[in-house]
Amino acid sequence: MNTASEDPTELSAQALSNEMNTSSIEQQEGNKEPPNPAPPHDGRLTLTNRILLGIVVGIALGFALGEKAVVLKPIGDIFIRLLKMIIAPLILSAIITGVASLGNLVRLGRLGGKALLWYVCTGTLAITNGLILVNLIRPGAGSPLKILGDTTLEQKYVAPNLVNDVLLKIVPENIFQSLANAEVLAIIFFGALLGASLMALGKDGEPLLKVVQCLNAALMKIVMWIMQVAPFGVCALLAALVGETGTQAFLPLLKYIATVMVGLALHCLLLITVLALVGKRNPLAYVRSVSPALATAFGTASSSATLPVTYECLVEKAGISPRVASFFLPISAMVNSDGTAVYEAVAAVFIAQVVGVELSLTQQVVIFITAMAASIGAPGIPSAGLVTMAIVLKAVRLPVAGISLILPVDRLLDQFRTMTNVLGDCVGAALLERSEEKGDSGVMER
Ligand code: ASP
Repeated sequence: MNTASEDPTELSAQALSNEMNTSSIEQQEGNKEPPNPAPPHDGRLTLTNRILLGIVVGIALGFALGEKAVVLKPIGDIFIRLLKMIIAPLILSAIITGVASLGNLVRLGRLGGKALLWYVCTGTLAITNGLILVNLIRPGAGSPLKILGDTTLEQKYVAPNLVNDVLLKIVPENIFQSLANAEVLAIIFFGALLGASLMALGKDGEPLLKVVQCLNAALMKIVMWIMQVAPFGVCALLAALVGETGTQAFLPLLKYIATVMVGLALHCLLLITVLALVGKRNPLAYVRSVSPALATAFGTASSSATLPVTYECLVEKAGISPRVASFFLPISAMVNSDGTAVYEAVAAVFIAQVVGVELSLTQQVVIFITAMAASIGAPGIPSAGLVTMAIVLKAVRLPVAGISLILPVDRLLDQFRTMTNVLGDCVGAALLERSEEKGDSGVMER
């Protein structure tokens, strides 16, 4: 597997020609190589290295400038706004083209089934891993930390209702309103329906499909442009964050931080092993090709904001067919949150340990089930996992104000869990791609 071209012009030309020609999408299904050949080395830093440099410089600036580093925040905010600007139209065009190019509804159901299996399996492993670690390490046992008597937290962190706040919102009342509010699940639902109807219309649906494919290619080109400012955006976000938070808050929570980090690291290792053994990919090369997405996830702590970058990395650099990426990624970025799942399990048991509640096995099973719901329900935005934590705490009658214990270090952990969430999406896409390749070579019905 090669590294990808960093030349936006070259990439967009490729993307446009791929997207404009449905048959080229078909050809890519069996193509294990990424679409772009490695560029000749011209001595310039690659985009990934520039983003990594941005991370290092940002952290250093945060320490050097202290609170003054907050003046840099608007640069980071502009970067996030640029990404957010593209999310709704990109998801809509990607899901329409993704579903329409599947060819038939049987295939749509098959892909959906495999994606669901991936979410459930990896979520189960992530929570089990978190629960085992937190029970072994016991980071909260004997801790001098006290829950702040902040009753406003009870009002602020209201457990979302899974039926009213998540399930019902999948079906948009008004698609234009959903687009305006970037309600991702509703956009996916409408886009999938429109894609399926264009597929059913056959030849009559082609003119509109071509327009949507062209729109998708144009949006991808914008994403590539936005990526050129990613190093500055990530640098500014981190400088402001480090300058604002400092390090004092971290000391009493070091054991908790370490438990979450070890959990996330183990889960990433597991994902990478599955990528190599089942996905038959060279893990290093694959991770390198999606590294701009991982770095953006780290900088923004938002898998939704990172979605355009992840999509671009998968299609342009990692050799994932637009068909699989378009269908899998938008849904995955919303519901597949392995890092959040690890964190929910560790944080809930940690809070119980600090307040001196010994959780029974049944209560830990309740934590397992609610942590799964909380991670699925957490949208890909900063601190979403902290908000949905209320579901888990309420289910086992722990005080929601316990969130105040972990609040001061949440952003740092959020950055790492968002990276894990995005890695889970990327590995899932590779596995789905591989299984579809097998299907296309005659094992499964086309
Ligand atoms: N920030 C995470 C994400 O965007 C969600 C979370 O808070 O865990 O994926």
